[in-house]
Amino acid sequence: SDKTVSGSVSTDSDRTPVRVDSQDSQVSDGEAADRLWPRQNSISMREWDIPFDELQMGEAIGTGHFGTVYRGNWHGDVAIKVLNMNCLDDEKTLEGFKLDVATFRKTRHENLVLFMGACMKPPHLAIVTSMCKGLTLYHHIHVYKDKFAMNKTISLAQQISQGMGYLHARGIVHKDLKTKNIFLQNGKVVITDFGLFSVTKLCFGNRKGDGLSIPPGWLCYLAPEIIRSLKAHQKPEDDDLPFSKNTDIYAFGTVWYELLCGEWPFKGQPPEAIIWQVGKGMKQTLANLQASRDVKVSANDIPLLEASPFHEDVRDLRRDKQGQNQKDVHPYRKLKDILMMCWAYKATDRPDFVCLHRTLEKLPKKRLARSPSHPIHLSRSAES
Ligand code: ADP
Ligand code: MG
Repeated sequence: SDKTVSGSVSTDSDRTPVRVDSQDSQVSDGEAADRLWPRQNSISMREWDIPFDELQMGEAIGTGHFGTVYRGNWHGDVAIKVLNMNCLDDEKTLEGFKLDVATFRKTRHENLVLFMGACMKPPHLAIVTSMCKGLTLYHHIHVYKDKFAMNKTISLAQQISQGMGYLHARGIVHKDLKTKNIFLQNGKVVITDFGLFSVTKLCFGNRKGDGLSIPPGWLCYLAPEIIRSLKAHQKPEDDDLPFSKNTDIYAFGTVWYELLCGEWPFKGQPPEAIIWQVGKGMKQTLANLQASRDVKVSANDIPLLEASPFHEDVRDLRRDKQGQNQKDVHPYRKLKDILMMCWAYKATDRPDFVCLHRTLEKLPKKRLARSPSHPIHLSRSAES
């Protein structure tokens, strides 16, 4: 039986473009593969090409940044994301889309939506994925105002870290991690829309004559380095916003905040105010983390703004590893530490998903159980 295995491996390598570069490369590794193995790559691209007329289009589910998602059927229920053709009017953009597709077919993980194929012939450009059942975390948190129990919250964050850690290990930057792109299906997290932002970005430029239109609820996921490079008069050609694994971690921090607090950071503030604050390195102020009326952590216990250099957090975590610091650090403080690490101003000060997963694992779930009547609350301080 060993022989059969090696036989199938060699067949597979005939059609799969070989990755040559480091894990840090992003979509550009597809580009490199195209250059080096044009034949193999085009063969394997064809495998994922779905003729548009094979799709049965159903009702529209909703419209996002760059197109409309339809319920559909292609060998079963699927979600069909049809790209807005206004956004894809040139060769360069079409190439970008094909590179995105080259990225998706590399993803196989429990916590990632199943990519089934794409329609790659203009004017019908679409991405076909499995249909997610259940609601997005956005829906649970902001529409239904669901409060997850603490161990559930931690489990969700761990599953997100796991799916994201996989993407990063494969050299894929999500670029649009947000609760609207995280589905909850029978307790299982399913992340969608990874690596699509190169297409999205180009649409912003077309939407308005001048100025970058900013989709609502998007800003609070953007790391300071991205915020600073958002220019009011950015042209679509102006190349990339500085997305990176570190900016995904920042976005995860915001998701973690939403899970804990049931709201977005900088809630109710106008975009200009958010841009100004985040660009200057200010964070959503966390004044008191309150689990119940009798457990309160004062503002002084919590590292705020730039007063929380990452190395201190690392020291904390290191001491935890040796089991010495556990009793000194209040468990609620640890929830905030995760937030502050992810929201670190300097991109390189942020942890990676492997570290986050480990940290989440160590949270004392029992001690953090919150009573439904007194949900954990990281409210803004009264004075700020
Ligand atoms: P956004 O993520 O900003 O909500 P999208 O264009 O990604 O915008 O999605 C539009 C709508 O389609 C949303 O309501 C989203 O929940 C839904 N949707 C997207 N992908 C899927 C999927 N794979 N399964 C089910 N619903 C989906
Ligand atoms: Mg989406």
